[in-house]
Amino acid sequence: MSPSFTSKLPKVETSIFTEMSGLAAQYQAINLSQGFPEFDTPEFLKAQINQAINQGKNQYAPANGLPELLTEIANMVHKQYQLSFSDTDKITAHSNVTITSGATEALWVAIQSLVRPNDEVIIFDPAYDAYQPAIELAGGSCRHITLAAPEYTINWATVEQNINANTRAIIINSPHNPTGSILSAADLNTLQALVNKHQLYVISDEVYEHMTFDGSRHESVLRYPELFKRSFVVASFGKTFHCTGWKIGYCVAPTTLMAEFRKIHQYVTFSSFTPAQIAIAAMLKQQPAHITALASFYQEKRDVLVEALQKSRFKLLPSKGTYFLLLDYSQLSTLDDIEFCHWLCQHHGVAAIPLSPFYPIADRASYHKNNKVIRLCFAKNNDTLLKAAEILCKL
Ligand code: PMP
Ligand code: GLN
Repeated sequence: MSPSFTSKLPKVETSIFTEMSGLAAQYQAINLSQGFPEFDTPEFLKAQINQAINQGKNQYAPANGLPELLTEIANMVHKQYQLSFSDTDKITAHSNVTITSGATEALWVAIQSLVRPNDEVIIFDPAYDAYQPAIELAGGSCRHITLAAPEYTINWATVEQNINANTRAIIINSPHNPTGSILSAADLNTLQALVNKHQLYVISDEVYEHMTFDGSRHESVLRYPELFKRSFVVASFGKTFHCTGWKIGYCVAPTTLMAEFRKIHQYVTFSSFTPAQIAIAAMLKQQPAHITALASFYQEKRDVLVEALQKSRFKLLPSKGTYFLLLDYSQLSTLDDIEFCHWLCQHHGVAAIPLSPFYPIADRASYHKNNKVIRLCFAKNNDTLLKAAEILCKL
């Protein structure tokens, strides 16, 4: 008889991304579910990584990351966010940036760095699925605050009402997965005041930082020096360079926080894939136009999909950033969102992501009653988007 075993995460199920991509493969559906680009990573980057491998750069990178990549990131954030920090707070490659195995590792390590037993962390629902398990494994718990649909904005008065003696941190994510909403300068200023007043910390998940639309600016925590003093900023090259499978991300934090982050990071992965770090450093240095073109590249795809769905019976919600678009299907079906996504995939050959798995299990029944929303990923070739839209328009 096998010994009895008690899970530390009894409520965690297989991720909805695994489930829906599996179903898409099973039914050979057009996969607009899990968020990853259909197109390839740039030729330059592929040539660089092949060259690094062929030149024998195949051993461990330094634990904090390859120095030339750390330097490129420090330069990029200074330039992009026009940092106006005082000299003592300046972001340097040496003290403030660490390369991780994807943003997933950076989030994990930032959470372990901050969260102690009985701490509470405020997260906003719908929330990316990686936050809660990491908080709970650190001995903390989540205080859930619901974003107000259809704009999915934060009510800061509600946030302040939910702060108590155990509150340790707030996790924000802008541009936001799964909703495509973005935080404004007013949001960041309010957050900065709140965090200072209550002596909290922030983890800012900015993996879609280069994908904001219609001329809006990405309000990075890095633009707010007082806020940054209490923050971990998490980013990922997977989204930026269409290489989600390389799993290279990074974290930027003030020196004291970064020192704690590095203590933990060295025992989680020690270091990340060397050839990819070499290639990405060269890409940042030699092909900066890729990043500046990213917002218009994805805005065009959003517009292709939005235009193609105009005649459908779905109600389209605003997508201001990321590569996701939400559709309200309440005029089409009474099924709940998980059933609807299964039906759509099995019977119509389009895979999407239901939104309810981004809410706490305890709230799902009431969520299902009032909400009929699914997420589509538009990081796909235009003909794929048009083919999917044609099917969706017939429903
Ligand atoms: N945060 C968000 C909001 C994401 O959407 C993702 C991945 N799609 C991640 C973190 C993880 O990024 P990575 O693949 O670099 O681990
Ligand atoms: N972040 C991607 C998404 O939202 C998928 C990441 C994953 O598969 N864990 O679809």
